[in-house]
Amino acid sequence: MEDRVDVIVAGAGLAGAVTARRLAEDFGLRCLVVEQRNHIGGLCHDGTDDHGVLIPSYGPHWFRTNSSRVRNFLLRFTAWHDVAFKVLVWADGRYWSFPINLETFEQYLGHPSTTAEMEAAISAWRIPDAHPRNSEAFVLSRVGRPFFRLFYQGYTLKQWGLEASSLLPSACGRIPIRTDRDDRYLTKAFQAMPLDGYTRMFERLLDHPGIKVLLSTSLKDVRNDVGHRHLVYTGPIDSFFNYATGALPWRSLRWERQSFPGDFVMPAMQVNYPDEHDFTRIIEPKHATGQQLPYTTILREYPLPFADGLAPFYAVPTAQAVERHKPYAAMAASTPDVTFLGRFAEYRNLDMDQVIERALGVADRLGQRLLDTREGANRIANRMAGQVAGSSDHDSDAAKPLRRKLDPKEPPAAIEIDLVVARYRETVDWLRNTPSSARITVYDKRGDLDPRRLPWARVERLENVGNEAHAYLHHLVTHYDRLAPVTFFCQGHPFDHAWDLHPTLRNVAAGRDLVDGFRWLGSMIDTDDPRGRRLFVPWSKNIDGRELALDGFHRALFGEDAPDRIVFTLGGQFAITERLARSRPRDFYRRALDLAASFPDAAHCFERLWDRVFGVTGVDLDRLGGAESLCLRPVRHSQR
Ligand SMILES: Cc1cc2nc3c(=O)[nH]c(=O)nc-3n(C[C@H](O)[C@H](O)[C@H](O)COP(=O)(O)OP(=O)(O)OC[C@H]3O[C@@H](n4cnc5c(N)ncnc54)[C@H](O)[C@@H]3O)c2cc1C
Repeated sequence: MEDRVDVIVAGAGLAGAVTARRLAEDFGLRCLVVEQRNHIGGLCHDGTDDHGVLIPSYGPHWFRTNSSRVRNFLLRFTAWHDVAFKVLVWADGRYWSFPINLETFEQYLGHPSTTAEMEAAISAWRIPDAHPRNSEAFVLSRVGRPFFRLFYQGYTLKQWGLEASSLLPSACGRIPIRTDRDDRYLTKAFQAMPLDGYTRMFERLLDHPGIKVLLSTSLKDVRNDVGHRHLVYTGPIDSFFNYATGALPWRSLRWERQSFPGDFVMPAMQVNYPDEHDFTRIIEPKHATGQQLPYTTILREYPLPFADGLAPFYAVPTAQAVERHKPYAAMAASTPDVTFLGRFAEYRNLDMDQVIERALGVADRLGQRLLDTREGANRIANRMAGQVAGSSDHDSDAAKPLRRKLDPKEPPAAIEIDLVVARYRETVDWLRNTPSSARITVYDKRGDLDPRRLPWARVERLENVGNEAHAYLHHLVTHYDRLAPVTFFCQGHPFDHAWDLHPTLRNVAAGRDLVDGFRWLGSMIDTDDPRGRRLFVPWSKNIDGRELALDGFHRALFGEDAPDRIVFTLGGQFAITERLARSRPRDFYRRALDLAASFPDAAHCFERLWDRVFGVTGVDLDRLGGAESLCLRPVRHSQR
């Protein structure tokens, strides 16, 4: 077992795995992930049954998100099966369209109806309450009693063992009421299932030299024996503090599984049962995973009171539970060397995308903090210089050089390439693994990269404006007369988008692959409009939801209006030949450089337009086949 790491992460669920990956990969920190179960993946874990059907171990996990940050992060670890999630309700002896929409209303009436009639009926049924204090009041204020009785009353009672009037309004979540025929369960922009299942996704997520995973190991087994600078804890918070102020209210679940020959036995991937059955829902995963098999498996889900020996699944959404959590939240706040993260440590029923978003944020802040300390900086510099980690924390003030890995089997360079990296705070240690013939320039926009660490690269400090676009254009302007035959432009951590950058670089350098003109680097082709409404507006980092002035930007740079659809590869990374780059005069790039520093959101505009900057169309529109997005990542099918 390791005797010293940077961070112990307790729990190999989403919160733990995402945090560990980010800390190891972006900050060079060594993480020990301990998981008390005998598998990774936490609640997301899945596997195949005797018939090869991919089934969830702890209830269905329908992945959905509006966050392109989350989506792009995961793209590196799994291909996806796109699916429009569909849920029905079984009540009063029949299936109902759900969430409530015009068809549900017609089913209720027993005859065709109209949007106007539905709106009138719902507003007559509603029991107004501007500040509903519980779930019953909340649902009544939105849809009135007929639909509350039909869809919510029995379901919440079974799910929580409590009347809706005892539960916080949030227990019934947001209730979409659609007066049209839109019967999608969710309207989030990205809805999909990992093609090979969640467990495979977690295997790739945790597969990093900086991460060690110990299964069937609880935090208490290692906490006192393994030296660490920080602990990330993702288990139940009351258990961490030894139930100091009593056990928190949790709810548990169990499942019954049954297989049948044939394609499907249920009409949808999920049917909710608010009626007298003991189970709350029946899941038929094949509807969502798209597997083609001669058998199908269903799962009946039964809520259970939480008791010794059972796993917790939900924080109980009552005002009393919130109160009981408060002392634990206060204890957590006064334990600065531990980060409490995820569904159980935060006592919040978070969705997967919320957990990932939080984990990325936590890791970015924590990684930076650990790196900022002298101890951290020295340790990581030493490690990167190939020394034994933990041998000395205090032996050097100066950063030690990072050795570039020389592959004795590397074929002689067939083509000279430049690799231009726009770095902000990333550790860029991945540069060690680039072909030795590649000439590397790192533009350091944060100014804290010690050039002595990368003696084989040219490190140039640049002012922190215009993100990567400014760095790329600076390079084009200053190196216009001495560009390599092919230049790769990428970000400090390019792999979120260009997962295959390393093999591409190697293949191009060895002449096994060609860059002919312009080539996007990345695995996701996407489409935006001139105001960024499809991707930029709902983007998670664009918290004020502002639009992109791409049209004005396009006019400023090219003197003409932007097209209606802008198709590009996400990530702002590409390779270009000298010939194509020099087909524009240097003055054009000077003007572009000025725009990069002065135009609002210029880097995001450039991200969408790099191919046009060089006067070409970088995406073969035929490949999109009319779709708006295309994932280029090859799909690996696991044995099922
Ligand atoms: C039934 C159900 C269905 C869901 N469906 C969806 C869905 O459709 N879509 C969606 O977005 N979200 C869904 N979720 C939410 C989703 O599961 C969570 O957001 C996410 O998996 C939480 O990840 P986590 O890492 O916080 O917790 P977990 O996945 O529970 O991971 C925590 C891990 O820590 C381990 N652990 C705990 N204590 C210790 C310790 N002391 N030492 C070592 N290890 C420890 C646990 O064994 C566990 O593996 C669902 C949740 C449930 C319960």
